[in-house]
Amino acid sequence: MEIPFVSFNAQNAAVAEESKAVFSRFIDSQYYVLGPMTRQFEEDYARFNEVPHAIGISNGLDALHISLKVLGVGPGDEVIVPSNTYIATALAVEMAGAKVVFAEPDADTYNISPASIRNAIGPNTKAIMPVHLYGQACEMDEIMAIAEEFKLFVVEDNAQGHGARFNEKITGSFGHANASSFYPTKNLGAFGEAGAITTNSAELDKAVRVWRNYGSEKRYHNMVKGYNNRIDELQAGLLSLKLRYLNDWTKARQEAAARYHANLNDIKGISLPYCHPNASHVYHLFVIRCEERNKVQEYLESKGVKTVIHYPIPPHLQEAYQDAGFEKGAFPIAEKLADTSLSLPIFPGIEPQQIDYVCEQLRTYFGS
Ligand SMILES: *Cc1c(COP(=O)(O)O)cnc(C)c1O
Repeated sequence: MEIPFVSFNAQNAAVAEESKAVFSRFIDSQYYVLGPMTRQFEEDYARFNEVPHAIGISNGLDALHISLKVLGVGPGDEVIVPSNTYIATALAVEMAGAKVVFAEPDADTYNISPASIRNAIGPNTKAIMPVHLYGQACEMDEIMAIAEEFKLFVVEDNAQGHGARFNEKITGSFGHANASSFYPTKNLGAFGEAGAITTNSAELDKAVRVWRNYGSEKRYHNMVKGYNNRIDELQAGLLSLKLRYLNDWTKARQEAAARYHANLNDIKGISLPYCHPNASHVYHLFVIRCEERNKVQEYLESKGVKTVIHYPIPPHLQEAYQDAGFEKGAFPIAEKLADTSLSLPIFPGIEPQQIDYVCEQLRTYFGS
């Protein structure tokens, strides 16, 4: 049996016919940039995300970057970022000219912990960027309370958390400006590059629209030295279509995760994802942990099961961050996660038998 790490078969089959209609409408419209499909998607995504404003952006990294820009984050400012995130979160801070301050995650949820955020706050701290890693909502109530106490901005990195909730409130609706990525493998994925910013603030909505479009609101009048970070019109149209299926696909991911949990929970040697009781998890990834992770991965590979490591090297130990001078051991929780994490296949359309096969191989490996 060959189990892919990710497959788009089920998602593509669901939208195949309708996506052709979107493409024809797009061609015929003769609006190829910031046209009616972008406006429609922005409306649709704002409704989904339970916020008054959503703005389509070129990709997730640019959405993180512009979120920081509109909040005035720049040189001299520090921004708190989880030590175990995908590098994009940290790179967005660098792009804005501010300094990244890493804070360790909770060892159980893998999400940045309120306690470590408190420890990381200094006189130059300007913002906190919680990442809803692997699809689990961060402890946003406490994070927002800390932000209020210290007068900090919050920019949620919601690239992996579309539709997740903390205490019933949806991710991407807590922070001042929040970034989503619609990279193809994300829970809501484009057929190419795309992202969005969500916000409750009409003022920030307006500012984001200016920054993404060359710093201009009125054509050929440039208020700031902005960027070309517009969402692609065709991707916006296709995203509106796929968004209608997102809740079903999330349910499929959650059912797959439940089956993994039921099958694996008695195997000694495997740590399963732990969800905070007040959080929901949309299982962008299903990440287990085990010692001798590389051997486990090789074993699964030999049995036809594709797995991926998210992420093998934490940002502070990347070559790109050499200049910051971090030693191994600087962020032990992040480093331990990097050494022991293994993401199992999960995607809408994964068959129960496929999950059972993966679990059987793990059971054989761990001899139980
Ligand atoms: C995918 C991802 C991003 C970046 O999104 P792109 O659209 O690839 O630029 C940022 N943060 C996290 C946590 C991600 O998973």
